Amino acid sequence: MQLELTELKGNKGLLAAFSSAVTSGAVPHTWIIEGPDGSGRHTFASLFCRVMMCEGETRPCGVCGNCKRAAGGHVDVHYIVPLKSENKTVGVGEIRALREEVYINPTSARCKVYIVEDAEAVTPQGQNALLKLAEEPPENVYFILLTHNRHGLLPTLVSRAVCYSMEPLSEADARAVLGKVRGADEVKTETAIRLSGGFVGAAKSFLKGETLAAGIAAAEKFLNALAEGDEYALMMTFSALPDSREKARSLLTAIAAAVAEAVRVKAGVPNASKLPIEAAERKAASAVGYQTLVNVYEYVTAAENDIAAYVNVNAAVTELTVKVAAARRENK
Ligand SMILES: [Zn+2]
Repeated sequence: MQLELTELKGNKGLLAAFSSAVTSGAVPHTWIIEGPDGSGRHTFASLFCRVMMCEGETRPCGVCGNCKRAAGGHVDVHYIVPLKSENKTVGVGEIRALREEVYINPTSARCKVYIVEDAEAVTPQGQNALLKLAEEPPENVYFILLTHNRHGLLPTLVSRAVCYSMEPLSEADARAVLGKVRGADEVKTETAIRLSGGFVGAAKSFLKGETLAAGIAAAEKFLNALAEGDEYALMMTFSALPDSREKARSLLTAIAAAVAEAVRVKAGVPNASKLPIEAAERKAASAVGYQTLVNVYEYVTAAENDIAAYVNVNAAVTELTVKVAAARRENK
């Protein structure tokens, strides 16, 4: 049996672990895969299902019935999607019901895979019930918990699973993947890679529609307000963030990328500025102290993570505004 895992780019640690687990025949039953939207978590989950279920010599072969169905809707691949449930969460009741179901044999493949989307949205009691399953899983059942942030999961659950964070791609890899996006010129592609921090799926969504322009505009407004120490303008930048969690988050990702470049400009790194807002980056770098820029970067990424972990968008943004304004006043 051979494995063909090149579909998932980068992420060598995760792929090596998966590959040696499959080869040795001892595949862990519970996997936690952490990362932002567009970082490849679903690509891994899909690859996992096809490798585990494929009947070909080289797995996944892509042509056997299991491979084909696993790419669409396989009867032995089960999705648990808390945010699509009525209460936007999955509780202990649902997981307990699962407890009976998991012991039923697979219908057509040699194993069953349960994929939990947004695992951090499962209630703590539900996670506890999941933990019981993870502790004594049926032989041929696997769980893949996808999460934006493992800190939203019970530590006991994390400790029972193998846990991987999706890694951003190198710029060269990201460029190779994004080279295939239709209608994206080199400058746009480069900007999208920068703004997404190397997560190709996120870069793709930046390239779609108006998101790229919106990200650049928000980042530029933020840097100008920061440079001028204009608290009202800072507040306006954040209060203009959309209510949609994903959109707000992608704008914060863009702001964080721009602040990171301003930090590098301040540190005198040559060619640090690659986003098309060099003037604003230079202005912020010259008006704001190094430590303050670093702190601001941390506050923005913390807000981004909070929003990913389902903290209320308004609450996260309000806290961010207060922290950034205070840091700017101190300016060190
Ligand atoms: Zn196959």
